Amino acid sequence: MMNSTKEQRVLLMMITAIVAGGVCGYFWGDAMQSIAWLGELFLTSLKMLIVPLVAASVITGVAGLGDVRHLGRMGGISVAYYACTTLIAVSIGLIMANLWQPGVGASLGGAQAPAGAHHETGFSELVLSLVHPNIVEAAASMKLLPLIVFCIAFAAALSTLGERGAPVVRFFEGVNEAIMTMVEWIMVFAPIGVFALIASKLGQNGGGAVFAAQLHSLLTYVLTVISGLLTHAAILCTALWLITRRSVMDYLRHMGTALMTAFSTASSSATLPLTMEGVQQAGVSDRARRFVLPLGATVNMDGTALYEAVAVLFIAQAYGIDLSFSQQILVLLTATMAAIGAAGIPEAGLVTMVIVLEAVGLPLEGIGLLLAVDWFLDRCRTTINVFGDSAGAAIVDHLNGR
Ligand code: ASP
Repeated sequence: MMNSTKEQRVLLMMITAIVAGGVCGYFWGDAMQSIAWLGELFLTSLKMLIVPLVAASVITGVAGLGDVRHLGRMGGISVAYYACTTLIAVSIGLIMANLWQPGVGASLGGAQAPAGAHHETGFSELVLSLVHPNIVEAAASMKLLPLIVFCIAFAAALSTLGERGAPVVRFFEGVNEAIMTMVEWIMVFAPIGVFALIASKLGQNGGGAVFAAQLHSLLTYVLTVISGLLTHAAILCTALWLITRRSVMDYLRHMGTALMTAFSTASSSATLPLTMEGVQQAGVSDRARRFVLPLGATVNMDGTALYEAVAVLFIAQAYGIDLSFSQQILVLLTATMAAIGAAGIPEAGLVTMVIVLEAVGLPLEGIGLLLAVDWFLDRCRTTINVFGDSAGAAIVDHLNGR
């Protein structure tokens, strides 16, 4: 574990790296593409830890609950938290989009549906995605949800074996600790990785001038999403304080590195190792942390849910289609489902938005309107996704401990 001076130093370096990456990418975008590999190295090193970390932390987390009945309580509180916060997030998105009307007057400019947008992603697909015929293949292709479901069931089974299950749990405890040590090693490299990710991504998108022009053309939309995300973050902070009586500033400080990694990588899954570390520093119990975070990184995406609501209303407004109140309720429900279905990888939300568009009969091509700025908004919503998970760990821990 890091001490607090070291933690502050890492945080300061991360902030500097993001700002410097932004500045270098803005002015020397082309040249910055040559350091993209450094960002890739950081990202891949984090991804390398995901499968063993998820498996070991879910197994030890669930086994640590002892009695299988405690799993029901912890699981119930977690699911209630995920559902409430996701619904609040979509509602904020809907309210913001109705107030700001970001799509009114937007130019349709030959919008095209992005590749992959025609995938079927209905309710039954969502339920079926919980299981996989080959758990090794699921892990190999980073399908985390079936892996988590398997690990929960496996740990529950272990806990019924008493003494015979204990060595297996101890084995996974060792795996978990070794992986967390590796996370600390990778963090040494984090500021360089973050710098390279931001600078090269900005370069890839044409540098500062192109980005500024894209931002300007979709300014109301971008501002609607960002103000929605900030409102949701404020609600999460208030809930964190009201329920757990923790200092929000302290909590944010512990989570700083993870939040900045989320912004730089646009992937909740890749950020998971750092979310784990931050929540541990913040003193959340191991059993809550190990259970709530891996599941949250895969299914709890407040930022994505909020963004999908704004984006769908934006598309409707741009095409001059008025969505009735009941259609907006349908958006509320389907955006929640789409956020649950989105994997914790870059731009996953853009693809699952198809569920929402199809439900209310909007043209899928509308997604094309949003592509130019999506790489940027993806980072903002991923940061809120990760914050939602980490606030959830503390809240669930508190409620479960009572
Ligand atoms: N990139 C997001 C995440 O990893 C998902 C999305 O909204 O595209 O949390």
